[in-house]
This record gives sequence, C-alpha cells and structure tokens, in this order.
Amino acid sequence: MKKKFIVLGVLLAAFGFTKANAQINFGDKAIGAVQKGVSGFTFSNADAAKLSKEAVDKLDAEHEIAGPTDGYAIRLNRVFGKHASGDGFTLNYKVYKLKEVNAFATADGSVRVYSGLMDIMDDNELIAVIGHEIGHVANNDSRDAIRAAYQKEALMDGVASQSATVASVTDSQLGKIGSAIIDSKYSRKQESEADLFAYNFMKKNGYDVNAEESAFRILAKMSEGSEASFIDQMMSSHPDSKKRADDTKKRAEKDGLYKPYVQQKIVNTAPVTTTKKATTTKKTTTKKTTKKK
Ligand SMILES: [Zn+2]
Repeated sequence: MKKKFIVLGVLLAAFGFTKANAQINFGDKAIGAVQKGVSGFTFSNADAAKLSKEAVDKLDAEHEIAGPTDGYAIRLNRVFGKHASGDGFTLNYKVYKLKEVNAFATADGSVRVYSGLMDIMDDNELIAVIGHEIGHVANNDSRDAIRAAYQKEALMDGVASQSATVASVTDSQLGKIGSAIIDSKYSRKQESEADLFAYNFMKKNGYDVNAEESAFRILAKMSEGSEASFIDQMMSSHPDSKKRADDTKKRAEKDGLYKPYVQQKIVNTAPVTTTKKATTTKKTTTKKTTKKK
C-alpha cells in the first residue's frame, strides 16, 4: 500500500497531476498562513540554492547512486552530459538506482534521474523529461518549492519562523525538505510552462520534438492498467499525461514538425570492455610500512 503510494507520488512529482496536488500539497490557504507567520522573511535565490544543495547532499547519501562504470551513469552522461553547462549555469547530474519512474531538478542545479525512468524512456524521451525538470528550475518553480518547504518546516519549528533570515535547519528538517523536493507538486500552469521549456529545449538542440509527446504517451499508457501492479490503478483517473501528450503534439503540428515518434532502442548496460585482467599479478607480499617517530 505504502509502496504503491510512493510510486504514484513520484510519478506525480515528475509529471504533475493536479488531482494529487490537491491531496498532498499544502494548498494555497495553508501557504498563505505560513507566509503570514513569517512576514518580513526573505529567501533569496542564493538561500534556495544553498538549502537545495544541503537537501540533495542528504538525498544522495541515502540513495544508491550509479557509479561511473554503471551503464545507467554512462548513458546519462552520454545523453545529457553535453547540456550540463550552459549560459551562466552548471548542472550536476546523477542516477538514483530505483525502480520508480521519476526525475527531479533542484534550485542549486542538481538533476537526479531514477533508473526506473531510464528503463522506459529512450534517449530523446529522456531528454524531454529532463528538459521538463530543468524548466522548473529555469522558471524558478524549484526555488519556490523549496522556499515553501522551508517555510513549512520553519513554521512548525516555531522558533525559526520568527527569524527574518534562513536559519540553519536540523538534520530531520533537512530530511523533510528533501522529501518535499522529491514530491514537489507544481500547478497545472507551471507544468505546462515546463513542458513548453522542454519542447523549446529539444527544438533548439536539434532533437526530435515528438519524443516529448511520446514520453507522455508512455506514462498515459502505463496508467491504463497493463502496468497496474507497478503504477497504481489510481493513475487511470488522472488524464493529464494524455492531455499533455495532445498539447505537445498540437505544438509540433503548429511548428510543422509533427511526425509520429518511434521509440528507439533503450540500452542501459555498460559497454563491454575488452580489458583483460592480469592473472598472475596477485600481490601477496605487500607489506605495510609502519610509521615510527
Ligand atoms: Zn513538472
């Protein structure tokens, strides 16, 4: 039950289904109350970046990360590495080895992609999803999300809420803020703007923009029941993936770029290396030198 909820939650986090927003988000009213409680409170972009970095560091420590020789890491590097630094920004990116279908990006420029997403998306579709997440950063949605998460924790704390600046958070608060990052729920408007960002990102970099439509179709299809054991049945009551696929298709048609997308081969295994392991060099005589003073 709980696992299903988590799977659903992360899917929603990445692809923003509004029904779940209402269930899990604080809601406008609650956020208003929080803001009232900390009037005069400032939270700069630098604060957002710093706090995001701390939260991501903690998440990194708690998750299994694909190492440099792991097929997932190699693929992400090949697909996304060239886009990691651009005009005035540098993104750092890692793969979390988790079956869940998710990806997120944070205000400090950290991009985290779950291997479960890489299992079902080809290179272009992956770029579309990552582009969408970067859109949230570029549009300051990520900053606003971590500010809201911080304020919520600060208000609960009661002491920090009286502070006009960002107080240091406890490890437990940082954990909650990290969870909030993963579960970030964005408004329908924010989602559609991030979709547009991804579309433009693909267009600008010469990718087949139709892969974005395809990515949403995959999610819509997963929600229809064939993968119901993995993706909660509740997904079927959230039509947003289909709508977003339709919106993306319309955009491509308008641009004269539409062509039904055919998914390419997905390869997440590390290339086979021919390096032979030396067989006779097992060292058994290495002595430890002891330092004496
Ligand atoms: Zn989104």
